[in-house]
Amino acid sequence: MSPDPRSLAERISAETGLEFTGTEGRERDGTRWLELQPAGHPASQTFTLRTIVGWRRLDIHFRPGNFSGDLMEAMGSADETGRSTFLSILRACRDAGAETVLTLNGGMRDPDDSEIWNAPWRSLSLAIRRGMLAINEGDAEADMRQIELWTSRAAAAVLALLPLEVEGSEHEEAAPDIIGLPEGARIRIEVNRYERDRRNRAAALAIHGYSCKVCELDMAERYGTAAAGLIEVHHVTPVSTVGEGYIINPATDLIPLCPNCHSVTHRRRPPFSVGELKAMIVDQDEQPIG
Ligand SMILES: [Zn+2]
Ligand SMILES: [Zn+2]
Repeated sequence: MSPDPRSLAERISAETGLEFTGTEGRERDGTRWLELQPAGHPASQTFTLRTIVGWRRLDIHFRPGNFSGDLMEAMGSADETGRSTFLSILRACRDAGAETVLTLNGGMRDPDDSEIWNAPWRSLSLAIRRGMLAINEGDAEADMRQIELWTSRAAAAVLALLPLEVEGSEHEEAAPDIIGLPEGARIRIEVNRYERDRRNRAAALAIHGYSCKVCELDMAERYGTAAAGLIEVHHVTPVSTVGEGYIINPATDLIPLCPNCHSVTHRRRPPFSVGELKAMIVDQDEQPIG
């Protein structure tokens, strides 16, 4: 089965908590692409994520819709956590061998340059390019894994900057403060708590990867496709010790743990730390056998 846009949309929707629809097509030179678009967003807030499946390479292009001025301004006025999450994800992409190209208001910009947040964003595109990939070499399942991995990284980066309004939270009461912010900052994409948690999870996995932070197990490597994406995300700062309004930073507050390590972590309150768990494993390995 070759990678198809519907299952990609399903997978990225499940990973990010934002519902996408998928289409496919070909570049002029015949190279195939899969494209995602958020389902049911108005024209002023829509965008596309196109994953071009080249020979031994993937190029993912984020483009706001033609009438998405509001969306771009809102992304350019994302809060501190959103900005640092966006940067952490782009850095993780570069660490994984990709090139990231950010074009802002007509010019190429370095995402690490803090100046980019000073002027309103009026035009924007982001490309994540990964060459030297074992892709399009006949193993459709492996191809799909790579496509999902890189598309979800790109989606997580974009979502980090989207202004989310959490339903039924205290954020609604804070609405009067929104007056006075730039036009774009007033748009809010309504999500529920579950969806926001999915977004944080997607960001954490894009930043930290899919291997357990304690024992380094990658579930998909051990069990194959059936276990792809089966990794748990643990709050390093226990949720119960932080206040209601606390904004989770996926780079520093969340880590991936395999189901085993995650269970052991929570056998104590407060949970055992990564260092403590690693020490337990070392201690056990050092026990003489028999
Ligand atoms: Zn583990
Ligand atoms: Zn946990």
